[in-house]
Amino acid sequence: MKIMKFGGTSVGKPERMRQIAQLITADKEPVMVVLSALSGTTNALVEISHRLAASDKEGASEKIAILEKHYQNFIHDLLQEATLLAMANEVLNEHFEFLRITQKISLSDALNKDILAQGELMSTKLFSLFLEQSKIDHALLPALDFMSLDQNEEPDLVLIQEKLNGVLANHPNKNIFVTQGYICRNAKGEVDNLKRGGSDYTASLIAAAVKATVCEIWTDIDGMHNNDPRVVDKTVAIEQLSFDEAAELAYFGAKILHPTCIWPAQQENIPVKLLNTMEPKAPGTVIMKEAGTVGVKAVAAKDDIIAVKIKSTRMLLAYGFLRKIFEVFEKYKTSIDMITTSEVAVSVSIDNDMHLNEIITELSNIASVEVEKNQTIVSIVGNEIAKTDAVLNKLFQAINEVPITMVSYGGSPHNISLLIPSEHKTKTLQLINKGLFNL
Ligand code: ASP
Ligand code: MG
Repeated sequence: MKIMKFGGTSVGKPERMRQIAQLITADKEPVMVVLSALSGTTNALVEISHRLAASDKEGASEKIAILEKHYQNFIHDLLQEATLLAMANEVLNEHFEFLRITQKISLSDALNKDILAQGELMSTKLFSLFLEQSKIDHALLPALDFMSLDQNEEPDLVLIQEKLNGVLANHPNKNIFVTQGYICRNAKGEVDNLKRGGSDYTASLIAAAVKATVCEIWTDIDGMHNNDPRVVDKTVAIEQLSFDEAAELAYFGAKILHPTCIWPAQQENIPVKLLNTMEPKAPGTVIMKEAGTVGVKAVAAKDDIIAVKIKSTRMLLAYGFLRKIFEVFEKYKTSIDMITTSEVAVSVSIDNDMHLNEIITELSNIASVEVEKNQTIVSIVGNEIAKTDAVLNKLFQAINEVPITMVSYGGSPHNISLLIPSEHKTKTLQLINKGLFNL
């Protein structure tokens, strides 16, 4: 079986859905189709939730009405057959009625997640009706029946595999399955999700669970690029990346792929392909065990980073100092991205400021602490990059004029990371594009 995941823009217009129907029937191999919500929907649902949280019922109603109108137009373009159109209407009524009812109940975390789940529930049901109209035999599998989180709110791959195999066994004669990305159930059995952009993660988890031949992620660009096309003029698609390289790029800012989505595929050694719905014949990027070539492959940038500079007050050379620091971050469930140390000082970077004040207060008991906000991690990724000829020399020559807050080199053989003030990001990415990629 292969997995084909289509993102929001790939399902966001009726003509795109038609095109997807062609793509999923292009060969004989059984396929699990994972769909995102129509583009813009999850953002709209987040907004509706925010308005409800702010007791702005009128604002929420307004948003709901606009969204409903959009879906009404969508189904009238997508479906011609009267009975199917009527069924689509019922689908919309059910989900929009739910959204309207939420305005009468007080908003809880659980209800918020129920609201966020509506997008994928609708996109898959509408796509299924379209397949029916096109006489394409398939089964719609509710992700809520098999996508499970464990007590730590992490996907429970063993349980997912068990449940999904059970679900698939009920459809022995089907070749095409459709399911929702993003949504799942938590350990309490409530509707939950895999965080924004999590449909990629769904696809990779399913790929691992069914030991798929390939996990295809279809978006609207032709694979992972060497640099951010929104920031620099010229970028090129990367043909092949190793799982490790791709994970680093996704984590450090490449928007095309959800950062956590690599590990399930990697665990089962299933290639992940990034393909373009607009150009289905283009080779895209393949992510697999082997890196292909050695050397610098790409640069990615991640904004909204905070540098925390911690200087030991008394504990010069003291053992246990690092442990005490890490314990503070652990206590507040704040993960550290970059770290650099000197004899008496440690600098770390974090991307989550939810508990920053508590962290600073506690650290201040053992050290003097300085915080620098508005930082960007620029991460240069490539197989065995550390062994590449003169790579540091070229890099620092290229970005000679950029002030650097932190440098991390040697942590992974595939990565060099710099922390810079965000105002220098655009220039830095442009200089790196010239200096390291000759573009
Ligand atoms: N619809 C969700 C989002 O927009 C999940 C996804 O598309 O991957 O974040
Ligand atoms: Mg996405």
